[in-house]
Amino acid sequence: MKFIAIAMLWVSAIGLAGCGDSRNAQGDTRARLLAAQTQSDNWLTHGRDYSETRHSPLTQVTAENVGELGIAWYHDLDTSRGQEATPLIVDGIMYTTSAWSKVQSFDAVTGELLWQYDPEVPGEAAANACCDVVNRGVAYWNGKVVFGTLDGRLIALDGNTGEPVWTTMTVDPDFPYTITGAPRIIDGHVIIGNGGAEMGVRGYVSAYKVETGEKVWRFYTVPGEPGKVDGEVSDAVLAEATETWNGDWWQAEHGYGGGTVWDSMAYDPELDLLYVGVGNGSTWNQSIRSEGEGDNLFVASMLALRPSTGEYVWHFQHTPGDQWDYTSTQHMILADLVIEGAMRPVIMQAPKNGFFFVLDRETGELLSADPYTPVTWATGYDLETGRPQINPAAMYSQDNSVWASMPGAFGGHNWQPMAFNPDTGLVYIPEQQIGFAYKGDENYEANAIGINLGLDLSVADLPDDPAVQAAVRQTVKGNLVAWDPVKREQVWSAPHVSGWNGGVLSTAGNLVFQGDSTGMFSAYDAASGERLWSHDLQTGIIAAPVTWARDGVQYVTVVAGWGGAYPMLMGGLSWNDGAPVANRSRVITFKLGGDRALPNAEPMLARDLVAVTDMADAATIKAGQMLYNRNCIACHGGGAVSGGTVPDLRMSPSLTDARVWHAIVMEGALTGNGMVAFDKNIDREESEAIRHFVADRARIALAAQ
Ligand code: CA
Repeated sequence: MKFIAIAMLWVSAIGLAGCGDSRNAQGDTRARLLAAQTQSDNWLTHGRDYSETRHSPLTQVTAENVGELGIAWYHDLDTSRGQEATPLIVDGIMYTTSAWSKVQSFDAVTGELLWQYDPEVPGEAAANACCDVVNRGVAYWNGKVVFGTLDGRLIALDGNTGEPVWTTMTVDPDFPYTITGAPRIIDGHVIIGNGGAEMGVRGYVSAYKVETGEKVWRFYTVPGEPGKVDGEVSDAVLAEATETWNGDWWQAEHGYGGGTVWDSMAYDPELDLLYVGVGNGSTWNQSIRSEGEGDNLFVASMLALRPSTGEYVWHFQHTPGDQWDYTSTQHMILADLVIEGAMRPVIMQAPKNGFFFVLDRETGELLSADPYTPVTWATGYDLETGRPQINPAAMYSQDNSVWASMPGAFGGHNWQPMAFNPDTGLVYIPEQQIGFAYKGDENYEANAIGINLGLDLSVADLPDDPAVQAAVRQTVKGNLVAWDPVKREQVWSAPHVSGWNGGVLSTAGNLVFQGDSTGMFSAYDAASGERLWSHDLQTGIIAAPVTWARDGVQYVTVVAGWGGAYPMLMGGLSWNDGAPVANRSRVITFKLGGDRALPNAEPMLARDLVAVTDMADAATIKAGQMLYNRNCIACHGGGAVSGGTVPDLRMSPSLTDARVWHAIVMEGALTGNGMVAFDKNIDREESEAIRHFVADRARIALAAQ
């Protein structure tokens, strides 16, 4: 008995104070994360703290002195694709990621590159990514740096050396899963999901032991084949969720259901709840996916789970039966707000569907849902039932009509993080107004490679008239919106030149930082929205900045570089001043009195539209358009207009050389760049039709010049 008692005493001593170096370090990271809201020097997790506020208590840089902010250092990254990472800063060391899932460690003060780790993602993985070969950052725990790769691996690196400690494959490589989101780590469990619901996959989120990479639990977000169990913790609720689905959604030709957990998470240590955002249904077209009926749980929902076991606690579905790509994977923020006289523990989110949601995070009760951007698909929410009042005209897949919607598939807000300032009580939203036209594809057949939306995307193509194109471009807007979640109204709005801008940082210096598509990195007065300072970073900015301190000096860091879903799919709309936005990928750090200058920006490589003389007949070009929109549009853009991150096909010399064209399109000559062979989807004649369609787009653009 005495021995047992002593052993028990030891166990509790370990639990309380830690024992040995590794336990001390683990306890240290955990304690620091729990105290993050008052710990000003570091940025230890993706959203800065477990509440994901992205608000820093630092006050050295203020609304009064922000004009003295200048560049302390910059580092040119070795890729020119979209940069979406939030860097972490741990005791003066920075850990960040770049396109193709590469990880960098810097001396955060000097900018010296300490190491870079390249997981050598195969080019083929790019074809599984809906939205560029991006990565949004790492997680840190106990000296380890953990991140996901585009091809679905979870890798732990030694933070000091950049050497891999363990690697775990989190997906079945036979399916088009990708990882672009940052992991979160709770009590030594690494939580990670994946993407792929534009291609056709079944979504899930998993937990792995940070010490070994061993899987702890997995929660599938949509049911599989009825009557079959997965042997996972989600089995307990998926039998019931199956009742909200119809037809054969679990099969390839219907899209496997979707519901991927590709970005947002938050954690409440007191309630011991992990919140995850769940993405869109797959296929987008609900008639193909679920015979046009049913809520299709848990697509477009928020899930509250036990982080230790993955056990389901509650869910809230923002967009029942989603058919608009209205993911609920957008940033979620925890706060305690006084609502109608009572302090409520809330979780706040501005998902793609255009409504700002405030839920009680203990119960999932809907407290409010109000439009933060123009919304046409629904008139509002019934707060009793928690259900939207959907505009019947928005149900395009049920009657095969065209639905031109606000928000569109890019959302009123996408993955670009928001921020919450507890002093002003405001949530700062990178809002965007990008319409989208939806129509079902009556002749849909599932592709082996690439997107499987079930949509006829030709209705979303821009008209040929340059004047009309310019007018449409004018309708695309982006704003930094300050939202009062208690009064349920917008307080101020600062306009951008275009949609698709950067994520947001809030500081106790009464400042909000955000970059935009024109390359301006700006600071705003948190209370009034007045723009106080800007610096031209020479490239479109989409990532969110961070702030941190070392030896009493406050720094602001942003990873700059244009890319992501919008310039890829909507290339022609994403241009500023009639030209593609440049990608000059850099990590840039500012401080008061910083005096480094960026090098003169080299002009974008100017290429000419290619004139093709052997034009095909109109029927071939039309067939080529349909094939292009099914196979090529997600990366090369509507109407074959590139938004700047991948080559503009209208300028490709291969347009005049069918042999070279087919070597690329059918044989995969450029697989290393991410351009895989499409011979599983199309035959040589169809490849030729696509070439003629692109040639026709070049001809029309040349005629307009
Ligand atoms: Ca999506």
